[in-house]
Amino acid sequence: MLAYRHAFHAGNHADVLKHLVFTQVLRYLGQKDKPYWLIDTHAGAGGYDLRARHAQQHAEYLEGIGRLVLRDDLPPAVDDYVQIVRQHNPDGVLRHYPGSPAFARAVMRPQDRLRLYELHPTDHRQLLRRFGAQPHVEVHVADGFAALRSQWPPPSRRGVVLMDPPYELKADYGRVVATLREAVQRFAEGVYMVWYPQLQRLESQQLPQRLKRLAPKGWLHVRMTVARPVQAGFGLLGSGMFVINPPWVLHDTLAAVLPWLTEVLAQYEGASYLLEQHAV
Ligand code: SAM
Repeated sequence: MLAYRHAFHAGNHADVLKHLVFTQVLRYLGQKDKPYWLIDTHAGAGGYDLRARHAQQHAEYLEGIGRLVLRDDLPPAVDDYVQIVRQHNPDGVLRHYPGSPAFARAVMRPQDRLRLYELHPTDHRQLLRRFGAQPHVEVHVADGFAALRSQWPPPSRRGVVLMDPPYELKADYGRVVATLREAVQRFAEGVYMVWYPQLQRLESQQLPQRLKRLAPKGWLHVRMTVARPVQAGFGLLGSGMFVINPPWVLHDTLAAVLPWLTEVLAQYEGASYLLEQHAV
């Protein structure tokens, strides 16, 4: 059963980190003329109304994009990400938050291809309405893990994957690892981005270590912790992005913005970040 709805979380601190890294990776890929394929295995609805009931329930966006959108002192990479959000809110009032497919469309070139997979019927319908008629975009109601297996490698031999499952089911951790293992075996040159929640559960803590073993040609891991751990062990402390075969500039780009971003998004005095990479 699909209980997770991204509309409750759109624009929160985890979306900020994910979409910041995502846009920087796509900017880099866009520097070479050769077209690439992007597969978004868990695409969500593609865009979110922050005034709607779901987003308003915990108003998570106020502690994410809400802390950035009106600032005029954004470091360049953060500014690049926030500009895309501003384009979706042309009157200057934060109401719409773009999902990963919208960030992708903002950065991709006409020659690139976007394939979106989403299983939830309501989110899939919205995704289809937003992107179904766009050139070079395919929207599928299908299991993104299985789809990656059947679509990979891309015919252009340039490919990038965003894997952003809900992790509400423990099985998602294992499926991320198994699917990526196979994808990397088939296409070692691909760029693979995995988002994961920083939780007090073992599966979340072990995931980066498991992903490192899949990436012999290099990886980058960034994690931003913004919220205080609670004794009961529940709650999202922060989130991470793991990138297999990252663009070589990504580490320095993130190193330049993370101290600032962590301070701005901190929800307690112990907020911190981790940035590590293995380059071959
Ligand atoms: N990537 C989106 C973004 O950044 O805007 C958010 C995606 S949200 C975290 C995860 C989505 O995956 C949910 O909309 C959920 O319905 C969908 N989902 C869950 N399991 C799936 C599967 N096996 N294949 C495709 N989509 C799935």
